[in-house]
Amino acid sequence: MPDFDVIVMGAGHNALVTAAYAAQAGLKVGVFERRHLVGGAVSTEELVPGYRFDYGGSAHILIRMTPVVQELELGRYGLHYLEVDPMFHASDGEDPWFVHRDAERTIHELNEKFPGQGDAYRRFLNDWTPFADSVADLFNSAPGPLDMGRMIFRSKGEMGMQDQLSRILRPYGDVAREYFSDERVRAPLTWMAAQSGPPPTDPLSAPFLLWHPLYHRGGVARPKGGSGGLTRALARVVEAHGGQIFTGAGVKSILLESGRAAGVELDSGERYTARAVVSGTHVLATVAALPDEVVPDAAKRVRVGNGFGMVLRLALKGKVKYRNHTEPDSRVGLGLLIRNEQQLMKGYGEYLAGEPTTDPPLIAMSFSAVDDSLAPPDGEVLWLWAQYYPYELSRGDWKTRSGEARENILRAFEHYAPGTREQIVGELVQTPLWLEQNLGLYRGNVMHLEMSFDQMFSFRPFMAASQYRWPGVPGLYITGASTHPGGGIMGASGRSAARVLIRDLTRRGWK
Ligand SMILES: Cc1cc2nc3c(=O)[nH]c(=O)nc-3n(C[C@H](O)[C@H](O)[C@H](O)COP(=O)(O)OP(=O)(O)OC[C@H]3O[C@@H](n4cnc5c(N)ncnc54)[C@H](O)[C@@H]3O)c2cc1C
Repeated sequence: MPDFDVIVMGAGHNALVTAAYAAQAGLKVGVFERRHLVGGAVSTEELVPGYRFDYGGSAHILIRMTPVVQELELGRYGLHYLEVDPMFHASDGEDPWFVHRDAERTIHELNEKFPGQGDAYRRFLNDWTPFADSVADLFNSAPGPLDMGRMIFRSKGEMGMQDQLSRILRPYGDVAREYFSDERVRAPLTWMAAQSGPPPTDPLSAPFLLWHPLYHRGGVARPKGGSGGLTRALARVVEAHGGQIFTGAGVKSILLESGRAAGVELDSGERYTARAVVSGTHVLATVAALPDEVVPDAAKRVRVGNGFGMVLRLALKGKVKYRNHTEPDSRVGLGLLIRNEQQLMKGYGEYLAGEPTTDPPLIAMSFSAVDDSLAPPDGEVLWLWAQYYPYELSRGDWKTRSGEARENILRAFEHYAPGTREQIVGELVQTPLWLEQNLGLYRGNVMHLEMSFDQMFSFRPFMAASQYRWPGVPGLYITGASTHPGGGIMGASGRSAARVLIRDLTRRGWK
């Protein structure tokens, strides 16, 4: 009799989603996580007394376009989402504007501030909302070989098929220029699209901009108490259905018996057996846990890239005060802080040359404005995400260069909110190396693998493994950002993997 029906390796949010569905379906589940807490890149801890910091993702957007929260009844298990509205405040430092959940309000304010740009925004939403909806649908199911075609055919916009296709195939920077003539509007939208990694000049990258209408559909939200509120709730679902979660329990190897996955051996040497193993780690961590003879060459050839973002997390003793923003709204949503498009391109140029960006555009997040549990009453958490930062540097290493990168991020922010430096009472600097060493994000890629077209849909992580089953090893499944639909807080991969697993193990299929 095996110890478990299902062993899950890693407790990132996707792995926990798979574990929760499996436990809910009556399977005996054991989750083994290397870190001292669950959640991986969706976790939160009090790192400075009185201040709770997220370790990874903070903006919960895509998961609310999946059925995960409802199907797993996460509200009953302690997840409480707080709405973030305005969702974004965009600024070059002089002329800030807001993206509200309400599209009409956004359009109205844009037209008042930048004549004609609200109309352009409306045109953009009208043209691309059907497309964005079809992308969300595809994200919620296992990938198929014809997904690109399905995405286009299903999105019945008013635009002709040819116009639509040619735009989808373009770089998102070009498509943004087609719609928005004012750089003060265009640059922040382009910067938001850059969050998945590829630069605005990459062909086939337009979908990163074209799914923007989804923000108005699903909104932006924060679990009360920090991002980790999601993964803590998922862990409770697993445990409530009889599952067990072990932290500080790294998996050294996946055990095979007659070619089938049969359990795991931990770093401590302990062994546990199961009918099936699900790996929710980076695909290269799965590779490292397997004997070489069952690792296809394609698995070793995945493109992890060379890092791209880093974060400066600050505990402040006072609230953020923007020079030119309307308080308190400017502290609520994600601050898309970019002076112009050139700033983004210059940063990318430095990155290509192996240098940390000297003058980064920023995403500023001060979510203590919506959640008073994150900081003391007069204080604030301020997290500054910046791009681009190579994992492999052309000069020196991250141990010697992190101070300089931290200083440049802070200097860039002081253009918008001077005096912030004097408010700092604690901090965490997350370089690409930090992300690798602490969160298991190889080469600092927060999306696991590059989010380029050659690694999306059926190509993620590689074709033979795109259906969440490891090729050639019955009983071994994979989930996580290394699989379709990729990085981000979504849980869709975890749900799709669960569907395959439960069908195989119970023969009852998906309820
Ligand atoms: C700084 C940062 C900011 C981000 N911002 C956002 C955002 O605002 N919005 C958004 O949608 N997304 C954001 N993301 C991306 C998003 O958080 C990640 O893509 C996503 O959380 C990855 O989830 P996952 O389920 O694939 O697993 P991961 O979070 O990668 O978890 C994998 C888990 O496996 C564990 N593990 C690894 N090896 C082993 C082993 N051998 N044995 C046992 N356990 C192991 C790891 O410790 C980890 O807990 C951000 C990410 C980072 C890092």
